[in-house]
Amino acid sequence: MSTRRILPFALACLAWASCQTDAPKPATLTEEQLEAREDSLEYAEARTKQAKITAFVVPDAETGAVHSPHADDDAADDMAIWVNAADAEKSLIIGTNKKGGVVVFDLQGAEKAFYPTGRINNIDVMYGFLLGKQQVDLVGCTNRSDQSIDLFQLNPTDGTLSNIAAGTLKIDTNSVKDVYGFCFYQSKRVKKSYLFVSGKNGTVQQFELVMTPDNKIDLKLARQIAFDSQTEGMVADEDFGVLYVGEEDKGIWKMLAEPDGGNRRTLLNTSGEDNPNIAYDVEGLALYKINGSGGYLLASSQGNFSYAVFERGVENRYLGSFKITDSETVDGVEETDGIDAVSAPLGKNYPKGLFAAQDGFNFKNGQLQRQNFKLVNWEKIERLIEGWEQ
Ligand code: CA
Ligand code: CA
Ligand code: CA
Ligand code: CA
Ligand code: CA
Repeated sequence: MSTRRILPFALACLAWASCQTDAPKPATLTEEQLEAREDSLEYAEARTKQAKITAFVVPDAETGAVHSPHADDDAADDMAIWVNAADAEKSLIIGTNKKGGVVVFDLQGAEKAFYPTGRINNIDVMYGFLLGKQQVDLVGCTNRSDQSIDLFQLNPTDGTLSNIAAGTLKIDTNSVKDVYGFCFYQSKRVKKSYLFVSGKNGTVQQFELVMTPDNKIDLKLARQIAFDSQTEGMVADEDFGVLYVGEEDKGIWKMLAEPDGGNRRTLLNTSGEDNPNIAYDVEGLALYKINGSGGYLLASSQGNFSYAVFERGVENRYLGSFKITDSETVDGVEETDGIDAVSAPLGKNYPKGLFAAQDGFNFKNGQLQRQNFKLVNWEKIERLIEGWEQ
């Protein structure tokens, strides 16, 4: 989230929604509302750039709003979809609120729980972490209140989270200046589990998750990687043993996810502004995995309110970009930070899985609301991709 300020003239251009005839009514924002955003991009400029992206989907649902003091707070940031293997329709959207904690929603968007744990930024889920002889699902996130990593065990029966960290897992802010991005990685090669944390100064650290004698989880530093500028969005691909890192003003880097992978990395072709459909910042990254090696890498292109789709796998060919526009009942999505995707069938509304995106500007009847997350049936995105591939 960069701290660019909105140019005053941009405010004159905010009647963007007036050209969108169906439902959520035209919305305008005051200068104060825009400047309240920690990371406000040039909204009108982003709107203009978004208009060049022609492929679109509409949301199927939206979550409740995150708890924040004011409607114009930039509060929601990232989310992780937890797939309930026993009852897919009871899967969860676990969102971050950087004004105060972790908020859990069901697939209808209803809030199930709120954990006021601090200024939580990015979040991820790990399935089947081996805690002694027991396999547990973990939720991990960056906590900017105390510059730590929070780790929770997710109870699959009721979806509740309980702290499983061995004390406060502080990150050394001399190395990682302000904990920010976050993702897990399970190594198939060495049967160990890791997490990555990124900082605003471009430093990424990799930690091994280590069980303590009293069945808590501690962290052991395994690697440090330096990038030239601010990094945030990250996702690891277990099947290929690679980590993708978004350097916000540069593009998407790919590197080995194993701790002995060193500092070597390659920048994905057309993952930055060499691609006319991408506008900085490059924010959230997510994988939509089909079988062992198929599927897609998705990236939030925050500067034009859209999402870039790359092939998963070795080449990471860019396939196209789409945006999320208003449905009859749910507003479209702007200035997305975090995204997530799963391919598991999640019931009749999401038979091929789900794409979720944080919405920087959540509207209802033209009025700005507290931020939330939008949910899209993957089938719609699949149809777009099939069209691009022809
Ligand atoms: Ca960011
Ligand atoms: Ca934001
Ligand atoms: Ca993620
Ligand atoms: Ca919106
Ligand atoms: Ca809305």
